[in-house]
Amino acid sequence: MDIIVLNRNAAEKDIRHILKKLEGKGLKATISRGTERVVVGVIGDTSKITEEEENAFRVMRGVEEVMRILKPYKLASRDFKDKGTIIKVKGKIIGGKKIPVIAGPCAVESWAMLISIAEKIKAAGASFIRGGAYKPRTSPYAFQGLGEEGLQYLAAASKKTGLPVVTEIMDPRDLETILKYTDVIQIGARNMQNFRLLLEVGKCKKPVLLKRGLSATIKEWLMAAEYVMSKGNHDVILCERGIRTFETATRNTLDLSAVPVLKQKTHLPVIVDPSHGVGKWDLVAPMAKAAVAAGADGLIIEVHTNPAEAMSDGEQSLKPDAFKKLMAELKPVAKAVGREI
Ligand code: PEP
Ligand code: MN
Repeated sequence: MDIIVLNRNAAEKDIRHILKKLEGKGLKATISRGTERVVVGVIGDTSKITEEEENAFRVMRGVEEVMRILKPYKLASRDFKDKGTIIKVKGKIIGGKKIPVIAGPCAVESWAMLISIAEKIKAAGASFIRGGAYKPRTSPYAFQGLGEEGLQYLAAASKKTGLPVVTEIMDPRDLETILKYTDVIQIGARNMQNFRLLLEVGKCKKPVLLKRGLSATIKEWLMAAEYVMSKGNHDVILCERGIRTFETATRNTLDLSAVPVLKQKTHLPVIVDPSHGVGKWDLVAPMAKAAVAAGADGLIIEVHTNPAEAMSDGEQSLKPDAFKKLMAELKPVAKAVGREI
């Protein structure tokens, strides 16, 4: 038993009674109130509930249906919540008709560079600013990010432009610091299955942008989202950023089929990162357009004023002019699929 469906007129005391019964069995619950029905999602090891116990729930007042979800993820599944999740961040909406674009440098390098990029992406129509202050670099000798100083620059750029901040966390020990400055917490591809980190951000009130792991299946990715959600934070944004395949012409293989697949399986918003997906700046625009055509709820794109000198991912970063051009070209694509940019 994973879901208890109550009719919409179910009394609060009936719901409370069910929650108490679940609690008595060591289980927790989350409630989703729709216009037609109230859905109680049961959290915890539901396999220990016997058939008789399940039947007892079935006849409780207000209960319409008791169901098992066969998928290993529950809270993330469309069975639990049919309506697409809409996430609101400081007046910006992810999961609505309008497709927000998150843009900015791979890493925050300096205040001068960040504010110059921030102003240009804002003018081009971006909705959020991105930038890493703690960078997951392959080499321990490569630039690791500015740490808290970088976060301060992001928060200051956000204040000046009104663009909310998206930045990556790598270590739960940095969580308290990062929360002071960011609006959305990014979990990078390399940490998609860092379960302790997932559980920690799951206790936060800020949305989590969860990137797909380099070799993660869609199911594993949804299970990672489930980890976050199981701790109470249901504001998870899934981000396809390319997976490892035998192909070497691009940095990764951007799996755009993940977008419609996820749309069937989950109510969570799905965004696409064509920059890490292809690894080459001149391939970013076509894949960004393809992502919007495929139904993406947002894009995250790396932009740098001087890609040749960038401390990370310069080769895949768009210059502000190219970004502006792309933003204009995305408009008719969005319109063609009933969306807006
Ligand atoms: C990034 O967004 O700069 C990044 C490191 O992405 P990913 O985790 O997808 O490699
Ligand atoms: Mn990057």
